Amino acid sequence: MTTKERYRKVIEYFQQHAPDAETELLYDNPYQLLVAVVLSAQCTDKRVNLTTPALFDRYPDAFALAEATPEEILPLIKSISYPNNKARHLAGLGKMLVERFGGEIPLTVDELVQLPGVGRKTANVITSVVDQQPNMAVDTHVFRVAQRIGLTHNAKTPLAAEKQLVKHLPVDLVHIAHHWLILHGRYVCIARSPRCPACGLKDVCKYYSHLMAKQPGKTTQGK
Ligand code: SF4
Repeated sequence: MTTKERYRKVIEYFQQHAPDAETELLYDNPYQLLVAVVLSAQCTDKRVNLTTPALFDRYPDAFALAEATPEEILPLIKSISYPNNKARHLAGLGKMLVERFGGEIPLTVDELVQLPGVGRKTANVITSVVDQQPNMAVDTHVFRVAQRIGLTHNAKTPLAAEKQLVKHLPVDLVHIAHHWLILHGRYVCIARSPRCPACGLKDVCKYYSHLMAKQPGKTTQGK
């Protein structure tokens, strides 16, 4: 199967089965999304969603967050991974949003990565979710799933995977393809135990075809 055919089949599958895929983080505006994505590093969306209502209540916008100290933020996010670092990042982020960006969330990757706690992956999430820009955020799920299916080939870093995915995906589908791959990785193509028998992508998946070639007649067990 050529790479082009594989992409076409994967896109068809997700368009049919996940036409409305979106982030599982809860947010009402770009400010809330940015804070939630910063908090979600090394943490589940579920836990972030349990934490953010009280945080957004206390700090409803960048101006309120800019007045907060890390010590004031910490108790509100203490159940999240790396709370000390993230409290520092949020306090700095609020201040920089106000001082440099007038309290608004900038919508370019170059501007976003200047903010504390915001790397390329987060900037790609914000610009693709808020503005449907064709920026592919590659997290651990996207990296793994794209490699297993065969959408990426020998990508050693998230940036390499990002470049390969963006090169092959139609520009208007990049933003939703990020959610397709994340959700597939979260619920089907799980890191330690991919649910291949239940997966609708078996026929196009490189990992699965290698598995079958090595163990004819066997399938991996889903959770
Ligand atoms: S067939 Fe298995 S390895 Fe391939 S995408 Fe599906 S769950 Fe992942």
